[in-house]
Amino acid sequence: MGLFQKPDIQFSNESSQYNMNEKRITCPHCGNDRFFQLPNILLNTPGITFFGFDWANKTASVLICDSCSRMEWYLRTPNQLD
Ligand SMILES: [Zn+2]
Repeated sequence: MGLFQKPDIQFSNESSQYNMNEKRITCPHCGNDRFFQLPNILLNTPGITFFGFDWANKTASVLICDSCSRMEWYLRTPNQLD
């Protein structure tokens, strides 16, 4: 266990590298390129609707930097590289 305590959500133990639109995803905070991926998260939950999203049953993919724990949200699923 490193500095980053994993949240109590089931996701893969190994971090991976990801691409979006043919470009490697890197963390804007620390520059790391390895992420944990959370299961797809439904966006039409009460906590999210105040953003103005009205998409029923839309999901988001969330990547968590395995170094600094910054969360990156994507509406499409990034391509896993390894
Ligand atoms: Zn980071």
